[in-house]
Order: sequence, then structure tokens, then C-alpha cells
Amino acid sequence: MTQPILIAIGKFRQIDIDAMRAEYELHLIDNAARIADLPAEAKAARAVAYSSHSPISGDEMDMLPGLEIIAHFGAGYDSIDVAAASQRGVKVTNTPDVLNDDVADLAVAMFIMQAREMDGADSWVRSGKWAERGAMPLARSASARKVGICGLGRIGREIADRLAAMKCEIHYHSRSPKDVPEGWTYHADPVALASAVDACFVALVGGAETEGYVSAAVIEALGPTGVLVNISRGSTVDEAAMLDALEAGRLGGAALDVFLDEPQIDPRFRALDNVLLAPHIGSATVQTRNAMGQLQRDNLAAFFAGKPLLTPVN
Ligand code: NAP
Repeated sequence: MTQPILIAIGKFRQIDIDAMRAEYELHLIDNAARIADLPAEAKAARAVAYSSHSPISGDEMDMLPGLEIIAHFGAGYDSIDVAAASQRGVKVTNTPDVLNDDVADLAVAMFIMQAREMDGADSWVRSGKWAERGAMPLARSASARKVGICGLGRIGREIADRLAAMKCEIHYHSRSPKDVPEGWTYHADPVALASAVDACFVALVGGAETEGYVSAAVIEALGPTGVLVNISRGSTVDEAAMLDALEAGRLGGAALDVFLDEPQIDPRFRALDNVLLAPHIGSATVQTRNAMGQLQRDNLAAFFAGKPLLTPVN
């Protein structure tokens, strides 16, 4: 039996390439602009497997006239023009939930690491300062602090649950109140959230609608002892305002897994010692990446079997 055609766009691990090759006639390209170079028989594909932070536009979708589904590898799908896909009747799927634990673990780990100055502690030992100078200066507690979640979605909730277990006082902002444990405080306005807490965790979706949602006013409200933790997308925070505030000491610190213009991050970050930086590793574990690849392929399999998609976006 002839295999269905699948165009895989972006970076995939060999294990995922092998799994796709077992089921499909696979055409692998680096980015959506390369669709133009595909042979005519590949352009008849009904399905795309996507794994890239680079955008795919409506014009690029139009180069695949038979396109019906873009199955994305990732919970965030801001690289895909979903409105353009919907206009063309193209379904988009993502891989939510299977990565919640790892992303929430990273957010909380970065918060603890920043508060307890663990990177400085490691170099205190390695450099011999411990033996030369004695104890390190005191750090700050991570447990029993007032914390805020900006965007209490799937990942936001997992972060909040972890912080609640650390005896933190939980505050959150979403567009409407959620069904949450007693004692959690809802804030209709992100500035009010930031004013109420010691640390704010950003877990919003990315994309045009949330661009700069964590505004200069939110950053100022967090203040000189406040900490911003961002595991969502660089675009959700006014990065220039955050850098200005960090440099001037108007924001106490930040722990960041995501940036504008990744991986060419603003060089101003490197000069700051009140930030903890990570190279977008929220979901980057073998277990979670395996689960994400499986869910991406399960969505494709459901599509080709004419069954309901598991995790549709549109
Ligand atoms: P989710 O369940 O859809 O939650 C998204 C949150 O964004 C919700 O709280 C939602 O608000 C809020 N939101 C959506 N549209 C909004 C708008 N127009 N204005 C204001 N708020 C809006 O998504 P998730 O699965 O938790 O994932 C969240 C994001 O994390 C992803 O989109 C992705 O960008 C990022 N992520 C990062 C990594 C990493 O490696 N660092 C890994 C996975 C995901 P409501 O509560 O009001 O609905």
C-alpha cells in the first residue's frame, strides 16, 4: 500500500524522523520557505508535521494546495498563522499537557535557583572562595513567599500547585476567575497582581494578542525586590522595559527561559548578575520530547484515519 505523503518542517530528532518514515512518505525541510523547492509530488501532501519557532504563513500554506492539517510539535503554536490556516480550512494541532510537568518544574527550579543564588553558590565552591573567604552572603527564601501566576492555564496551574506545596501564598491573573483551591487570590488586572507579590511567573500563550502583556507598568509594580520568571514566550514581556528596570535596580531579578529574537538574545542580558538565563529548555527532556513526538504523530494518525483530532487548536 502506498504511504501518505508527509512534509516535516523544522528540526526533528532522528527517533521522530524514523517513526514518521515508518508511516509516511516523508519529505523533510528546514523551514517553510523551502516548501517552494519541494518536488511536485510532495506538494500534493495533505499533512505537515511542524517543529519550528520560525513562522509559517498563509502564502506558504498556499504552496500546498491539498493541505488539510498542520500537526505542531509544541504547546505554543505562535509560529503558525492559525487564522490563515482556519481561512483555508486547514486544521492545526499542538502537543499540550504532556509537557506541563517539565515546564512547571523548570519555572519553580529557576525561581529557587535565583532566590538561593545557586549558580553563585556553585562558583563560590569551585573558585575556592569558600575556603578563602568563608560563608557566602545570605540569599532569599523561595518557600512561603507571595507568588503570582500571570496566565493560569495548563502550565500556570502546575506552577501554582508546586508553589502551594512550598507554602507560598498564591495569587493569579487570568481573563476570568478559575476554579482554584480556597485561599488563592484572583486579580483582574496584571498590575494589581504584580503589586501583591514577591515573584511573578508568566505562563501566557505567545502571539500577537499577548505581546507586551507584562508591560512596563507590571514590571514597575513588581519593584526592586520583585522577581519575574518567564517560561512562556519572550514576546509576552516588554523586554526593553524589563532590561531597563533590571539595569536600574527597579526590578529585583528575573529568571528567563524565553527571549525575543532567540537564540540571538539581547547582549544586555549577559552583563546582568540579577538574571538567571536558560536556553528555552522548558520541555527539553527525553521523556517529554518523546511524549510530544508521539502526540504529534497520534494527531496525524487520527487525521488519516478520519477520526477526531486529539488536541486541535482551531
Ligand atoms: P494554556 O493552557 O492555553 O494557557 C494559556 C494562558 O494564556 C491562559 O491562562 C490564558 O488565559 C492566557 N491567554 C490566552 N490568550 C490570552 C489573551 N489573548 N490575553 C490574555 N491571556 C491570554 O497554555 P499552556 O499549555 O499552559 O501553555 C502556555 C504557553 O507556555 C504556551 O503557549 C507556550 O508559549 C509556553 N510554553 C513554553 C515552553 C518552554 O519550553 N519554555 C514549553 C511549553 C509551553 P485564560 O486563563 O484567561 O484563558
